[in-house]
Amino acid sequence: MRIRLLPSQAGRESQLQALTSFLINDRVSVDGGSIGFALSPEEMGQVRHVVVTHTHSDHHASLPIFVAEAFTALDSPIIIYGLPEVVSALREFIFNDHIWPNFEKIPLLNGKPSTIEFQTLEPRRTIEIAGLRVTPIPVNHLVPTVGLMVQDDGASVIFTSDTYVTDEIWEVGRETEQLKAVFVDISFPNELAKLAADSKHLTPELLVGELEKLNREVEVYAVHIKPTNRDQVIRELNLLGNPLVSVAEIGRVYEW
Ligand SMILES: [Zn+2]
Ligand SMILES: [Zn+2]
Repeated sequence: MRIRLLPSQAGRESQLQALTSFLINDRVSVDGGSIGFALSPEEMGQVRHVVVTHTHSDHHASLPIFVAEAFTALDSPIIIYGLPEVVSALREFIFNDHIWPNFEKIPLLNGKPSTIEFQTLEPRRTIEIAGLRVTPIPVNHLVPTVGLMVQDDGASVIFTSDTYVTDEIWEVGRETEQLKAVFVDISFPNELAKLAADSKHLTPELLVGELEKLNREVEVYAVHIKPTNRDQVIRELNLLGNPLVSVAEIGRVYEW
């Protein structure tokens, strides 16, 4: 399994992450925040599956751009996966012929009737996406949100998506064979604990309690660090003194 955290801007040098997209095996995107900015047209044409974990804009901001950019390379529709709340919001507020064309009704160049198709996710029900087993697990955020367990024959990886303190995804992780890594939301530094609670994100201090629930030795990569707080969050993560915890590097290929 090959995983990349995509850059949030077209220039790829920056490690600042304002938007969320992970690319798995060049084919499946977890969230569509930066997917329309970060990839070349050829790379976009390879991506046929986008799992949107919740309705917040940083997780689908450039999904409409991506659909339009990939269009000429498509010989089959892009499938967009989400909870029912996510699918209905994307239909109503984005692909509504006002903000962006309704690509469900736009045929592909080869005559296939739709450019995008929506597929509804059901919490805890595993589906197969491009050779991966993907299980959505509810987490604790402001809107209905799922973290994802993504598995192939050799590895399992957890993406928490945006979450505050939560239990189920850590319980699932504790029981999962071949769990290699967790990508976890650490948006804010410890001194912004109230903001973290109000907006339902984690801090380095809260991560300690979450990892006790997970209770096993796996690589832990912090993501979703707010750019304004980044240096402080990194300092506080280092102070945890846990060699398994580090910050996910944009552009690096993680492979298990
Ligand atoms: Zn969010
Ligand atoms: Zn977010």
